[in-house]
Amino acid sequence: MKILKFGGTSVGSAKSISTVISILEKEYKAGEKPVVVLSAMSGVTNLLSSMAEKAANGEDFTTQLAELETRHFDMVRSLLNVQHQNPAYTRLKINFNHLEELLQGVLTLRELTAKTRDLILSYGERCSTLMISKMAAQYFPEALFVDASELIRTDSDFGHAKVNMELTELVIRSFQQENKDKMLFVTGFIAANDAGQITTLGRGGSDYTAAIFGSALNASEIQIWTDVNGMMTADPRMVKKAFSLPELTYTEAMELSYFGAKVIYPPTMIPAFLKKNTDRYKKYF
Ligand code: ADP
Ligand code: ASP
Ligand code: MG
Repeated sequence: MKILKFGGTSVGSAKSISTVISILEKEYKAGEKPVVVLSAMSGVTNLLSSMAEKAANGEDFTTQLAELETRHFDMVRSLLNVQHQNPAYTRLKINFNHLEELLQGVLTLRELTAKTRDLILSYGERCSTLMISKMAAQYFPEALFVDASELIRTDSDFGHAKVNMELTELVIRSFQQENKDKMLFVTGFIAANDAGQITTLGRGGSDYTAAIFGSALNASEIQIWTDVNGMMTADPRMVKKAFSLPELTYTEAMELSYFGAKVIYPPTMIPAFLKKNTDRYKKYF
């Protein structure tokens, strides 16, 4: 079992979503049915956050909301066969209507709590994953959309929720058992507390979702696909001479991410490291 996670830029355009599908096709042809974890389309989480702020300040958010809808609908139009487009539009439209209601609520109250913000941000991953799972179903009939907020249990620290790993692993495992012949397309970044309220795992948290699933399902690999060629000596956007590192230990990867290498969300390494090396883990922490 492999986990493949695709970040915002990997699902940000029709061309990159087609690349995702071809990567998955290769796995599929090789007899793999990976669990696919997806981020929101690039820029969408920031856009949602900005709309929420605008609403709280009494400003108009409708232009941005329309922009968001158009971006998703355009993608459906370019990547889904005509006969599958309507059901996808309908599901997405329901999401956008809920989102609009929420933003209207924030506008009316002029109040944006961390809890409401998480709920608003969750629509990025819910829309991208729903859309891509529908596209994927054209190639892989077993494709199943999975809202991770139904599987990952956290505390109520909205914005940076802490995962109850023990319970989460049990829930994920039993869900996977019930859906053994499916190919799971999972929303990154989002989870829920014991009351079923949506929480988020921190910005960049979809990497962590992949590691949580990897640990729960004892995956042989967790692949983090992004817009650069692996972990590099430095951020290539800042250091022109940065180059890809052929391999790293878990500890080195953890250090790099904790000291700011945005390519991987810091807690991501922990579940993977724990699974591989419980004794060494105990020595470190
Ligand atoms: P994704 O949307 O796929 O999760 P991110 O933007 O979170 O992608 O992470 C990828 C970006 O991380 C790269 O475009 C790169 O600019 C930046 N980055 C920062 N430090 C590093 C590093 N040490 N190695 C590689 N990329 C890095
Ligand atoms: N969409 C979320 C963010 O932009 C999570 C992620 O992309 O990993 O922070
Ligand atoms: Mg990231």
